[in-house]
Amino acid sequence: KDVVDVLGVRFHRVTMAEAVEKILFWSADGGHHLVVTAGPEFVMQCQRQEALLRLVNSADLVTADGIGVVWAARRQGRPVPERVTGVELVPQVLAEAMRRNQVLRVYLLGAAEASLAACLDKLRAQYPVHAFAGHHGYFQHPDLERILEEIRAFRPHLLLVGMGQPRQELFLRDVMGKLPPLVGMGVGGSIDVWGG
Ligand code: UDP
Repeated sequence: KDVVDVLGVRFHRVTMAEAVEKILFWSADGGHHLVVTAGPEFVMQCQRQEALLRLVNSADLVTADGIGVVWAARRQGRPVPERVTGVELVPQVLAEAMRRNQVLRVYLLGAAEASLAACLDKLRAQYPVHAFAGHHGYFQHPDLERILEEIRAFRPHLLLVGMGQPRQELFLRDVMGKLPPLVGMGVGGSIDVWGG
């Protein structure tokens, strides 16, 4: 694998287009895949939390989500081609899939109720070929089973979790095995951005 180590975190040296390609391939290959976009903040969290470091290093794709990571990789002589942020990556995936007539089912979990609703409206208008569903990110633990059941019933290709780092990555680690094959990805505050 073409990777660069930044303080123990193994980043994949991919362009935005290559990241899109991988995600589109995985969304159809019948496996579970985890995508992490990691910035300097996340790298620092990994220094303090061994479990988080193990989790990120077991992910299928780890992109440099922050110019600090791009610089760190370059200083080591193994530059990443570009910054690949979650907020930009997902729209690229949706647009490219639409261009290819590859229909995606996308479940968004996160953000406040109104923000999620606004985001779903925008995505449905912008990418009419895809199917979108979601749930806000302020649920209590007893609601978890019901939400997982909803996700199972929806059968998403992509599960985008926007509950802040590293909570969303830990959440994905814990639930992906209980869900059908999909690509899981933490998207931070992107749901607020896409809906805005
Ligand atoms: N959020 C959530 N549930 C929570 C806490 C936060 O859904 O219990 C959402 C919040 O509404 C926001 C996102 O998680 O949409 C966090 O955004 P932030 O920009 O803080 O995350 P980062 O991008 O820094 O990981």
